[in-house]
Amino acid sequence: MVRTQLQRARNGDVTDAMERVAERENRDPEFVREQVADGQAVIPNNTAHDALDPMVIGREFATKVNANIGNSEETSDRDGELEKLHAAVHYGADTVMDLSTGPNLDAIREANVAHSPVPVGTVPLYEAVARVDDPADITHELLLDVIEKQARQGVDYMTIHAGVLMEHLPLTDDRKTGIVSRGGSILAQWMEENAMQNPLYATFEDICEIFAKHDVTFSLGDGLRPGCLADASDDAQFAELDTLGELTRTARDHGVQVMVEGPGHVPMNEIADNVERQQDVCDGAPFYVLGPLVTDIAPGYDHITSAIGAAEAGRAGAAMLCYVTPKEHLGLPEREDVRDGLAAYRIAAHAADVANDRPGARDWDDALSEARYEFDWRRQFSLALDPDRAREYHDQTLPGDNYKDARFCSMCGVDFCSMRIDQDARDADGDMTRLDDDTDLDASAAADVNRPPVGSHDAAGVPDEVEIGGVTFTPAESSTDESAD
Ligand code: SF4
Repeated sequence: MVRTQLQRARNGDVTDAMERVAERENRDPEFVREQVADGQAVIPNNTAHDALDPMVIGREFATKVNANIGNSEETSDRDGELEKLHAAVHYGADTVMDLSTGPNLDAIREANVAHSPVPVGTVPLYEAVARVDDPADITHELLLDVIEKQARQGVDYMTIHAGVLMEHLPLTDDRKTGIVSRGGSILAQWMEENAMQNPLYATFEDICEIFAKHDVTFSLGDGLRPGCLADASDDAQFAELDTLGELTRTARDHGVQVMVEGPGHVPMNEIADNVERQQDVCDGAPFYVLGPLVTDIAPGYDHITSAIGAAEAGRAGAAMLCYVTPKEHLGLPEREDVRDGLAAYRIAAHAADVANDRPGARDWDDALSEARYEFDWRRQFSLALDPDRAREYHDQTLPGDNYKDARFCSMCGVDFCSMRIDQDARDADGDMTRLDDDTDLDASAAADVNRPPVGSHDAAGVPDEVEIGGVTFTPAESSTDESAD
């Protein structure tokens, strides 16, 4: 019988996954075990996901970032999805969620799991919807069938919107934007048409048994999350959160790992209270937040509006940040949107880790600042979060090799370069200190995700090619080391 990471942690076992996580985070394996045993951290790790390099999600560890990928009825095919997976891992996603709702769901999911060194999450309700003519026709049996199949396919965590109850729905009547979660809106419609309780709530203990069998982690969905600032922190959101607290305890009783999803759209001054309330209601279960967006006025720039909220949520204790791309509210993200969204969120996660004084987190900043002051342009590029972008912008105006050790760039120009002027003045005073005690990132206590290059997962378990349904999938090149200069 499979025993979950939670069950084994409670039993006092330090598993291989816990050892690996401890290595990546520079922490004591026993500390990792304690955090998992107490439900304060999760290691999404389906026993059928062979390519996985285990990672941990919890407020005591480096803040993680999730990237959503997936197709829709309108756009993207299987190869396009694998390309997005590769881009997500390359640009530093710690987990990916396959939110496909279009054709070839099984093949895309199996290819993603086979090729992903990071945990893969899904929302099984989407497949259930795809298998019926009318969402109201979804049955308990169909939901459990889909969930069991996806668990067998190796999905590491699933969003289960079990906290949206019939009695919560009237609380959304006065909202400006109603129910904006896809899962939440589908379930609300189902409950109204069938006059029955949420089927995911009704079958929750059956789902727990499936999850325990395959060690799938719950990501308890927030189907009533606010979709605009005006709806943030309202009665509907907090009524659902109370139910999520109850479900957290039920899942743990079954030995299943749990994290809890959070809003959405929240004014900056309410974010810390939201995080603290979730931690209290859900007994410290890792909080996995979408953004939140701190203003509603900037479609086209919502990777920025939400990364501001994500940084504040991370500082306040959120464990994982679900990225938002510039296409949010506007269209399905493509590869370049994935890159921009991940850059924004890696910045937010790292800023939170620096603010929370995570071990070694600031070392990366210090190393880059030293390279900057020394006019070591090549090192500055290689340490940059997105080395290609940094080099590209620099070289747009000063492309020649001779400018790679120039004591200025085109921003201020040679005469007004303040760092050169400052260095010259200190040289003249005789008190110029050359930075010969450079920060040694190799010796840093920082977690892997807090050191360059981002996207440095161990891809050793990713197979060269996989045949699924008669189609051979060949992964794009390895995700490791490409962002290093
Ligand atoms: S020119 Fe300005 S931006 Fe460029 S290195 Fe000097 S101080 Fe920095």
